[in-house]
Amino acid sequence: MMQRQKSFDQKQPCLYLVATPIGNLEEITPRAISILKEVDVIAAEDTRNTRKLLTHFDIHTRLIAHHKHNERTSAMGLVQLLQEGKQVALVSDAGYPLISDPGQVVSEIVIQAGFGVIPISGANAMLNALVASGLPAQPFMFYGFLKPQEKEMVRELHALKEYPQTLIFYEAPHRVKKTLERMLYVLGDRRMCLARELTKRHEEFIRGTISEILDICEECKGEMVLVIAGNNDKKERMVDMAGVHQMITDYMEHGLSSKEAIKKTAKELGLSKNELYKSYHALHS
Ligand code: SAM
Repeated sequence: MMQRQKSFDQKQPCLYLVATPIGNLEEITPRAISILKEVDVIAAEDTRNTRKLLTHFDIHTRLIAHHKHNERTSAMGLVQLLQEGKQVALVSDAGYPLISDPGQVVSEIVIQAGFGVIPISGANAMLNALVASGLPAQPFMFYGFLKPQEKEMVRELHALKEYPQTLIFYEAPHRVKKTLERMLYVLGDRRMCLARELTKRHEEFIRGTISEILDICEECKGEMVLVIAGNNDKKERMVDMAGVHQMITDYMEHGLSSKEAIKKTAKELGLSKNELYKSYHALHS
C-alpha cells in the first residue's frame, strides 16, 4: 500500500537514522547533535563506541544496543518504544546506519508499523571516496563488502564484470591484497582508486591501475574503500545486464533451455555468448 511521509509534519514519534563521523569528529552536523540530545532513546550498533561519541558532544540520552545478529527482535523492541510515544534515534559505529551496517530490518519494520523513518545527514565513506577518486561519479554502483571466500568473491565479481558503472567496495586492510588479485583476474587491469583513512590525519587517495595498486597495497593500513572503473571498453558492455538477464528468463519461460535462451539472446543483441553465459550463471545458478 502506498505510504506518504511528511518528515516535518509528524504527529507520532519517529525513528531517526543519524549519520555519525567516519573518523574526524568535526564531521557531525548541528542537526544530528540536536536530534541525539532530543530523542528519548539512542539505539547503537556498539554502545561502548557510541558512548565515547556522546560523551564528546555532552549528550546524555539513554543508550541501548541494536546488534545486527538480533536485528529482528531488537527492531520489535524499538517499535514498542515508538508505540509508547518515545522518539528513537539509530546510529552505527560510523557513517550511515544501513550502509554496510545494521538498520535495514528495523527501518522496514518501523515503516510497516506506520511510523516515520527520517534520515539525518552526515559522513559516509563511499561518497567521499567516489567524489575524490578521479573516476566518473555517475553512474555508480555501491556494492559494500564482497564475500571473503575466494569462490564466492570471484562469482560476485563475474556478475559485476559487464557493468559500466563505477564500482565501489568496502574492504578490510588484511584482505585487500587477495581482493585486488581477484579483481585483476576477473575484471582486468582497470583504473581504480584506493581511498583510505578518510577524514582522518592519514587520509590518502592512491589513484592508478589495479596492478599498480596491488604492488603497494600491503603497505596500506587503516580503513579503506576501493573505487573501480566500470566496464566501458566495449559497446556491448554498455547494455543493461538486468534487462538482458530478464530476456533470457523470458525465453526460458517460453520453453527454451537456459543454453538455448542465452545463445538466442546473445545472437539478437550481438553479445558474446560465453560472457553472457558466465554472467547469467554467476547470478542464477
Ligand atoms: N556505515 C559506514 C558508512 O556509511 O560509510 C560504513 C561502515 S562499514 C561497517 C565499515 C567500512 O567502511 C570499512 O571497512 C571501510 O571499508 C569503510 N570505511 C569506514 N570508515 C572509513 C574511513 N574513515 N576511511 C575509509 N574507509 C572507511
